[in-house]
Amino acid sequence: MDSTEIAIVGGGIIGLSLALELVAAGRQVTVFERGTAASEASVAAAGMLADQDPENPAELKQLSSLSRSLWTDFRQQVERLSGMAVPVHTRRSIQVAHHLPEGFTEATPEEIASVAPGLNTSGKSAFFLEEESICPPELSAALPVAVRAAGISLLEQTSVEAVHDRADGIEIVTSNGSWLAGQVVYTTGAWAAQLPGLPAAPRKGQMIYASLDHPLDCVLRSPDVYIVPRGGGYFVIGATVEDAGFDKQVHDDDIQALLARAAALWPPIGNATIVSTWAGLRPVSPDHLPILGPLDDQGKGRTWAAVAHYRNGILQAPGTARLMREFIEGQQLSVDPTPFRCDRFALSSVQ
Ligand SMILES: Cc1cc2nc3c(=O)[nH]c(=O)nc-3n(C[C@H](O)[C@H](O)[C@H](O)COP(=O)(O)OP(=O)(O)OC[C@H]3O[C@@H](n4cnc5c(N)ncnc54)[C@H](O)[C@@H]3O)c2cc1C
Repeated sequence: MDSTEIAIVGGGIIGLSLALELVAAGRQVTVFERGTAASEASVAAAGMLADQDPENPAELKQLSSLSRSLWTDFRQQVERLSGMAVPVHTRRSIQVAHHLPEGFTEATPEEIASVAPGLNTSGKSAFFLEEESICPPELSAALPVAVRAAGISLLEQTSVEAVHDRADGIEIVTSNGSWLAGQVVYTTGAWAAQLPGLPAAPRKGQMIYASLDHPLDCVLRSPDVYIVPRGGGYFVIGATVEDAGFDKQVHDDDIQALLARAAALWPPIGNATIVSTWAGLRPVSPDHLPILGPLDDQGKGRTWAAVAHYRNGILQAPGTARLMREFIEGQQLSVDPTPFRCDRFALSSVQ
């Protein structure tokens, strides 16, 4: 049987960024990915690093701030290791909301007109956020290359089918044979109900990639739609939020409704040409917060989970990797993990 010090089950951004963090700390890591790495929610995302979004639950603040502070280093590490570019595409957002949240300053009509002429604020509040966005397809292309360059064994087309706790370690039963691991971390995203049996579920998001010859270098966001410029006259428009199981079909009526919502926010986008559409599955827990930390209640420190990042997993990946490494190494934690504890839910299988 092959062996590894730490097995990571799931090769999305959460699993791969944790692998990089653990290897940098001198650990030996193997990542098992059922399909192609970074090809599920992590490539489907809009790429907003929306740590200041007032719509985010307050419990996410610490983790989001930590992650935001680590993002530039993470991005540069991926670029250095992969030799591929993962540029920042935008550096600020305008949020339109029914009320101006505490601590924010209303943008003046002149300020809005200078950045996003035509933005429809119609009686609502609008305010600027200093936040970045990256392009998930660019990150998803570079991240697996970076992971392999860092010496991590990334096994694609390798599904983990069962996990058994043994006296000498943890047996990882895969579609390509069994492995013996010292520890296992589940980063299985929307499939976490299957393994390790945590109550995470998929929330479908349909998205549009569109072209429009109209300058905009700032994300535009309201509670029901966002427009993310990618440069060169391309825009991502998102997203639906649907409880549709594991269905990833795109429906034309949903796409047209999404485009109409975008045009209501920023009328010029109504003239855009749709280039492509897709859908991805956000992993969500019953309270909409991530599930992070130790899984075994006997204190063996051998099984861990980092799933259910819902709408903010791209933002929260480097912070989650840091927190999980601190957990695994028994170090002081940078973030209070109480809201994210695995044992706030009952495990339905394994462990
Ligand atoms: C439409 C949309 C827009 C989004 N926009 C943003 C945004 O702007 N900003 C932001 O921060 N976040 C955004 N998100 C959320 C973000 O994409 C997710 O929170 C994040 O990608 C979750 O990463 P993950 O690694 O947990 O999941 P995934 O990327 O889904 O990876 C999980 C992996 O585990 C693998 N796996 C599962 N079970 C097994 C098994 N048994 N054996 C082996 N492998 C297994 C799967 O194949 C998959 O590759 C968006 C998501 C969607 C869908």
